[in-house]
Amino acid sequence: MRVVSGIKPTGNLHLGNYLGAVKQWVTLQDDVVAQGGESMFFIADLHAPTEWIAPAELSSHTLEVAATMIAAGVDPAKSILFNQARVPAHSEMAWLLNTVARVGWLNRMTQFKDKAGKNREGASVGLYDYPVLMAADVLLYNATHVPVGEDQKQHLELARDIATKFNGDYGVDLFTLPAPLISKAAPRIMSLRDASAKMSKSNPSEQSVVKLIDSDDTIADKFRKAKTDPDLLPATVDELGDRAEARNLLTIYAALADSDVATVLGEYGGKGFGAFKPALADLAVAKLGPIRDEMVRLLDDRSAVTAVLRDGAEKARALAAPVLKRTQDAMGLQV
Ligand code: ATP
Ligand code: MG
Repeated sequence: MRVVSGIKPTGNLHLGNYLGAVKQWVTLQDDVVAQGGESMFFIADLHAPTEWIAPAELSSHTLEVAATMIAAGVDPAKSILFNQARVPAHSEMAWLLNTVARVGWLNRMTQFKDKAGKNREGASVGLYDYPVLMAADVLLYNATHVPVGEDQKQHLELARDIATKFNGDYGVDLFTLPAPLISKAAPRIMSLRDASAKMSKSNPSEQSVVKLIDSDDTIADKFRKAKTDPDLLPATVDELGDRAEARNLLTIYAALADSDVATVLGEYGGKGFGAFKPALADLAVAKLGPIRDEMVRLLDDRSAVTAVLRDGAEKARALAAPVLKRTQDAMGLQV
């Protein structure tokens, strides 16, 4: 079992990153240790500048994201934690896979359409090619499982297509097909202001995103002001119907409590948001507050976090080298 996943240092992590990705990683790393595999979690600093980010921000967010991962429970003694830029094989592999990926495949990627918006001609080539670098990130390590939020499912399918085409074109059995692991509890946490949009680092509305760096008061305030409807909560999940805001807040509560929406409705069915929102705010503060405090403590000594990333990169380079070499050999490159 080889688990690989990453997060872009485009900002401080938010509740969606935590519930959809990092929380799963923490559970998985123990399964992986028990089975004698590897889990590898990286900060996707090469992905971050596909949309403009100031250099000082990129560099500080890289350390902050690493500290947040550690504070949330990713243990450098159990998992390999590194930043992508320190492992040049990611870039080298991405180029090789670019020769196999098809333009038609990339044209179907919905994240590019969402992120480029109307200004597609003005988007960076990197943003367009993002899914190929992501394929390189996982194929480079022959990842068997990739724990991600639902929004990354399409990119992972593309990685499988690229792997299959490479293996077929060159008549080799080189790349493992990675399976997505999508959190059942929190596949897609939505914005607190607009339940039709994903909670995202890049969302400019501060109120829409609960960040792991937020103070207790800010967390509570964001939940108190979260958009909702005027109705009481129903007793069963079926009766929720298309109440997207209610469903999102219930999903967050259930995921934070390691419970499920039906159980939460068992307790709050028949009550209004006036009762539910303060309970959710308290739960979120209880779960997220200690992560923030630990992150702040870790960032007191940035050199210690840097040392973790350097050490992780060394291990990652050692695992990447033979796969990159086999890929180059398969293609007939003289290296
Ligand atoms: P950006 O807006 O810069 O794309 P992001 O918030 O989407 O940032 P990423 O770094 O792209 O964060 O994604 C990191 C991981 O978090 C991925 O596995 C992604 O699927 C997951 N993730 C991101 N947003 C959510 C969300 N709202 N709910 C569940 N998982 C999410
Ligand atoms: Mg994203």
